[in-house]
Amino acid sequence: MEADRHRLELGSASAAPGTVDRGWLDVADLPTGTPERLPVIVANGADPGPTLWLTGGVHGDEATGIAVVLETMDALADDPEALASLAGAVVAVPVVSPAGLRRNARHTYYDDEDPNRYFPDADATSARPPKLQERIDARLYGAIVGEGDAGSDPADAVAADALIDCHTAGVDSEPFAIRDRVLYGDRRSESAAEALATELESVVDAFGFPTLTEYPAAEYVEENLQRSLAGAVLNEAGIPAFTAELGSHSVVDDRLVAGGVAGAFAVAVERGLLAPDDVPARVGEPAEHVDEVPVDYPVRRYRGPTTETSGLVRHRVDAGESFAEGDVLADVVSATGEQQETIRADHDGYAISRREGLAVYEGDPIASLAVRDDGDLVVPREDGED
Ligand SMILES: [Zn+2]
Repeated sequence: MEADRHRLELGSASAAPGTVDRGWLDVADLPTGTPERLPVIVANGADPGPTLWLTGGVHGDEATGIAVVLETMDALADDPEALASLAGAVVAVPVVSPAGLRRNARHTYYDDEDPNRYFPDADATSARPPKLQERIDARLYGAIVGEGDAGSDPADAVAADALIDCHTAGVDSEPFAIRDRVLYGDRRSESAAEALATELESVVDAFGFPTLTEYPAAEYVEENLQRSLAGAVLNEAGIPAFTAELGSHSVVDDRLVAGGVAGAFAVAVERGLLAPDDVPARVGEPAEHVDEVPVDYPVRRYRGPTTETSGLVRHRVDAGESFAEGDVLADVVSATGEQQETIRADHDGYAISRREGLAVYEGDPIASLAVRDDGDLVVPREDGED
């Protein structure tokens, strides 16, 4: 055993080298007298190496993401040989939002807001003191980047070298991984941003899911996505981190669980935590569980096109189908069946998911799409601000 490999601690979990331990990380006190605590699982390798973080359940209804984190850790814990050959550590927080899980909902009941928009951003200013969700997010972020008093000793023992945040998207959504654009400016130089974007690309590629580049910078910052868990770890801390979208919310999709577990192990191999031969035998390749992308050009996320009329939306393109600019994507009809509007594609691309719900109002986007993208992967932060 390497002399400098020591016990890893996070909250009440304490893993000696070559072992897995499970515990709880207290992040707040509840009015009812119990702590709000996050479940944590630490797999500590026998040899030194990088630390990979897996998070899920930032949105409490995103069941498949939680299952991917739990099953990845089970695959490691159940395989003594894999654990013995692990160089570094895998740290998991399967349920980042217990308050969302309690009500099987995307939002918590603290403030009925999206918990995935309150991670730290030094450029975010508010006249008010941070509310509970923002404080919880900051405490978890502190543990991820090795700052603060989240229970680790030494403080940097479990700091992330890479992070996968496991989510799900709309009903009947295609699975994908989101590659955020790397912002430069006060935080880092353009060349440092390029180096980080290159590192991020190899991590996302290893995961093996179809990759969508995130929204353009202005929309990214307008939507506060730099304050999502992966967005903050990437753009605030400069650590390669991405969001995996594992199909539909609310019901576990076992095929995509298998794909996500395979992807997490592929990232562990890419980061040097495991040799390919040391991946547990029950874990396959991501490609066995994920369909091939129907287009051969780079794509980005796009919410649209939007309707100009209110009515009932009838989709003409299914999730996973490709289309060209000008193709009909949907019709809007009245409740008496009369044609109101034909909605055509304003880009080339393929459909990720149709909008949930039959009713649309003017200005509503009708789908989540992957559209052709030749945009820059590193962008000045100023582009994203007013
Ligand atoms: Zn989510």
